[in-house]
Amino acid sequence: MRLLITIVLVLISCSVFSSENDSGLHTDWIDNTVDPAKNFFLYANGNWIKKNPVPPAYSKWSNFHILQENNLQTIRTILMNAADNKKIIPGSIEQKVGDFYASGMDEKAIAAAGIKPLLPEFERINQLKNLQDLQKMVARLQMMGVGALFDFQQMQDFKDSRQVIGVAAQGGLSLPDRDYYLKEDKKFQFIRERYLQHIASLFELTGESKTQSIVDAKTVLKIETRLAKASMPRILLRDPRAVYHPMTLAAVQKITPDFSWQSYFSDMGHPELNHLNLAMPEFFKVMNSQLKKVSLNDWKIYLRWHLMDSFAPYLSEAYVREDFKMKALLTGVKEQLPRWKRVVGTENQALGFAIGKLYVEEKFPASSKKAVEVIINHIRAALKSDLQKITWMDAKTKQAALEKLDQMEARVGYPDKWWDYSSLEINRDSYVLNVMRASEFLTKRDLNKIGKPVDKNDWDMTPQTINAYYDASMNRLNIPAGILQLPFFDPRASAAINYGGIGFVIGHEMTHGFDDEGAQFDGTGNLKNWWTQDDLKKFREKTGKMASQFSEYTVNGTLRVQGKLVMGEATADLGGLTLAWRAFHAPDIYKTVKTVDGFTPDQQFFLSAAHVWASNIRPEEAERLVLVDPHPPAMYRVNGTLANMPEFKATYQVGAGSPMANAYCPVIW
Ligand SMILES: [Zn+2]
Repeated sequence: MRLLITIVLVLISCSVFSSENDSGLHTDWIDNTVDPAKNFFLYANGNWIKKNPVPPAYSKWSNFHILQENNLQTIRTILMNAADNKKIIPGSIEQKVGDFYASGMDEKAIAAAGIKPLLPEFERINQLKNLQDLQKMVARLQMMGVGALFDFQQMQDFKDSRQVIGVAAQGGLSLPDRDYYLKEDKKFQFIRERYLQHIASLFELTGESKTQSIVDAKTVLKIETRLAKASMPRILLRDPRAVYHPMTLAAVQKITPDFSWQSYFSDMGHPELNHLNLAMPEFFKVMNSQLKKVSLNDWKIYLRWHLMDSFAPYLSEAYVREDFKMKALLTGVKEQLPRWKRVVGTENQALGFAIGKLYVEEKFPASSKKAVEVIINHIRAALKSDLQKITWMDAKTKQAALEKLDQMEARVGYPDKWWDYSSLEINRDSYVLNVMRASEFLTKRDLNKIGKPVDKNDWDMTPQTINAYYDASMNRLNIPAGILQLPFFDPRASAAINYGGIGFVIGHEMTHGFDDEGAQFDGTGNLKNWWTQDDLKKFREKTGKMASQFSEYTVNGTLRVQGKLVMGEATADLGGLTLAWRAFHAPDIYKTVKTVDGFTPDQQFFLSAAHVWASNIRPEEAERLVLVDPHPPAMYRVNGTLANMPEFKATYQVGAGSPMANAYCPVIW
């Protein structure tokens, strides 16, 4: 869990220029049998949707995935060239990325090793004698990236954004959310039954008897269900104040008398630590009582399970197959991705910034960076002008908002300084051990920031990522190189496409600085109220309307979107597209756009914005996302946003009674 430090936009993109025109507009995706005033998403993307069903190995399919496929191919070539290079310097990043890939593709060695690489860890768990040993093992597993018992990370102090502190948060579950453990619907009961079988099957593969593995699986589910019950629901996690409880070591110790934080911090490389944010005190109270209630033997079973669950995808075929079975159940995926794609995906996480350096050298022209910076400036100017004109805010709040915008930084492309991977050993001996060492390297690098001033150079996303994010504690938006491709952006595309695409993304991220979460942080990134009481009330009414609007929308027939979970992202979409529209309408920009195939510049702009979200999704995945994803489903990102924009209604002559005319219409800017 990233604990609200970053607010990430998971954007979906389109593919390449259509052959019919050179503006970048895909008129061939439009379904003319749908009335744009009734369902703009289906009108703009209907033909795309019909022609692009979800492939068996995916839970969702979109133009984003098509772009991602191209990226995977590019990265694969980089990795294969490195793996085949005989003149490579040992210890260089080329050696590391090449060897990691080679080890992942060496199916023979992986099959021969079986479970062996994990045996020393199983033995360590087996040897635990008491609670002290148990918590040492928890620390060891967490270092390897295993989600045992709870999460421990670094974060910028909400109240002093210049400093990095430690944060302990709820965790220790394997299913995607607490709801999966607690909901009584038949569907969730079925998932839990299958989860029990899955745990038992993996235990059986390690040599346990069938009877024992079933008993052990029940033990795991019982422990996890208790942790799930103690966990805060996802909607509440969006409130930074609800998850901010900085306290001294003595105070933390009082809440959890049976867990020695001092020795835990030593094990995590921070013996000096004397305070932290105990994000969810109630969770830790329950964790503490469980430490005593659950027998040591049962804890061993729980830890064995989490170790297995984390590393099964990198073991031999039987483990991989069993792991996939559970993923398929949760997402609806029908078949496994080919090995090379899985390895590239894993390596992209493990050695992301090493790959990123090679990726940028090959794929990212400096001219793109400059052109996007120009668009950022136009969007920023649009927001500034809107804030100045806003009527419902008083002068004091307005001044603070303008200051926050002035202080907002924007970065494009990739970090100024590349990561140092010299302490990470990667070789061709064992794939799973490479994954484990890389995971440990990442945890250590992260925790190493605790107690120090913030490293302003760091990025949370790798340069090759097709996405963007706003960081509230830094008051900064970040646009990685990966997203600066068509259809989001291309210097040759018309302004309607670029502003409907990357302009929308930039506006979205900028708006996060002022959504229901972002608005609680000031221009320096501190959690500090800068609103007058009256304005804050008005603002909450407006974002509250957004939550009500989205709660009316349903998925798979009857499953309701959680308005309160998605309202930050829905706000960012509305603010973002509105800002992109304003910037697009600057006379110098607007006059460059011609009518294409009978579509006016304004129609092209809205089509471009809707095309970004063209997608198909499996019902299982749609259901999972409604529970865990703070972004609204694709159709409502388009229809819910446009329904709130008078500019859209004027462009497409949407009448008052139409489903694309929202009665709430919360004008925020
Ligand atoms: Zn977002």
